[in-house]
Amino acid sequence: RSLALGGALQAAGMRKGDRVATLMWNHYAHLEAYFGIPCAGGVLHTLNLRLHPDDIGYIADHAGDRFLIVDDVLLPLYEKFRDKIKFERVIVVPLCGKPAAGYDDYEQFISSAAVMQAPQLDENDAAGMCYTSGTTGRPKGVVYSHRALSLHSMACAMGDTLGIRQSDTLCPVVPMFHVNAWGLPFTGAMVGCKLVLPGPHLDAVSLLDLYETEQVTFTAGVPTIWMGILQALEKEPARWRLMRNMRMVVGGAAAPESMIRAFDRFNLDVLHAWGMTETTPLGTTAHLKHVLNDLPADERYAYRVKQGVPAPFVEVRAMTDEGCAQWDGTTMGELQVRGPWIAAAYYKLDAEADKWTDDGWFRTGDVATIDAEGYVKITDRTKDLIKSGGEWISSLDLENALVGHPAVQEAAVIGVAHPKWDERPLAVIVCKPGAAATAQELREYLAPKFAKFWLPDDCAFVEAIARTSTGKMMKAALREQFRDWRWK
Ligand code: AMP
Repeated sequence: RSLALGGALQAAGMRKGDRVATLMWNHYAHLEAYFGIPCAGGVLHTLNLRLHPDDIGYIADHAGDRFLIVDDVLLPLYEKFRDKIKFERVIVVPLCGKPAAGYDDYEQFISSAAVMQAPQLDENDAAGMCYTSGTTGRPKGVVYSHRALSLHSMACAMGDTLGIRQSDTLCPVVPMFHVNAWGLPFTGAMVGCKLVLPGPHLDAVSLLDLYETEQVTFTAGVPTIWMGILQALEKEPARWRLMRNMRMVVGGAAAPESMIRAFDRFNLDVLHAWGMTETTPLGTTAHLKHVLNDLPADERYAYRVKQGVPAPFVEVRAMTDEGCAQWDGTTMGELQVRGPWIAAAYYKLDAEADKWTDDGWFRTGDVATIDAEGYVKITDRTKDLIKSGGEWISSLDLENALVGHPAVQEAAVIGVAHPKWDERPLAVIVCKPGAAATAQELREYLAPKFAKFWLPDDCAFVEAIARTSTGKMMKAALREQFRDWRWK
């Protein structure tokens, strides 16, 4: 079916290097697109369906997408940005069972009987692309070459990274629109294991049912998903018969130690990993090294909760103002990475070239220590972004909007720990003299401009926000001050 899709796209006019957008959940047709588009010479461009429709439209337009493959259940979302970009063909996957009127039907499209012509491809040709959020301004596109995806797949299969084998049953919960579901569909297909794709059903009970029915051995997602799963398991510990030692990769945000310990009690094996859209994404994994196996339990957890050691071919360093930090586990610096699947630039965005050093290291915007065993531990972030349930929120965009409110003099938006979403935005507000506003009013003021999950959950009203000598708001101090904010 992938070859049929590739052939049909070629027959529809897709040429080598043309971008084909997908707006889809994790399912069979998306997997077909993962292979059909790049094998036919096209570039698979996965659109993030959780973004504001204006951003999705911008991204598709910036990438120059010619075609769109979209789930029928996501057509209402497409309708919201269709005036921003004119696709030549919109091909609709009939998840609800019948073709959507007025559009090309996916099943009919791939039954065109056009035979795919294998194009001459260089390993450095583009195979896919994915946009990531910026601190300010527009999202940034990352292009993945055939080479990067192939090497990344091989590295992910290695025992000391993700260790994916033919005998696994692999269930990527991380969306296929987030860095190619962390490359798992590619790795899974490469090793030939069974893939289980959960579609839009991402609530804890549906996932646990699926894990049980399909006897899943390996799954992956952001902490928010695992917190839900844990709650469901703790509520009904005997309900599901899961595979013993099912491996669960937690990434996209820090895995709390309490969560790793709790899953251990259910004989479920959490593996903490770190990566980014720009790193395809595998960067580090926190397996316990052989030499650390005999440490007392608390010390072993202290390693497992770190982001881990770099994958083969990935170099890491923590850079301070004085240069490269010692690997002493205490000196913090900006985490920089280099390697064969680390992006070298953003797509058509020269203004961001300073994210790479002259000698080719990518500045991640994360702050980290590296210890003597090579374990990276993320301690902070220099980028002014908040990550909620695996999705980015730009604090600067919210601040700029908030100061437009007639009662607001100054606004700082910070991420504060949240038991379900990992982080949620809290707006710290200084009102103009004599003026007042409520959290509800400010949320309503922001609502038309942003996706709902961007809206700050609460506001803290203060007299003043401390600034540095260069006039920057002291966000780190605010994060410390409001660290124990009690969400209502
Ligand atoms: P994205 O490009 O959306 O995948 O986001 C990548 C960013 O997510 C990283 O630069 C980190 O800030 C954050 N991140 C990813 N994995 C982890 C992790 N295991 N622990 C802490 N932060 C993480």
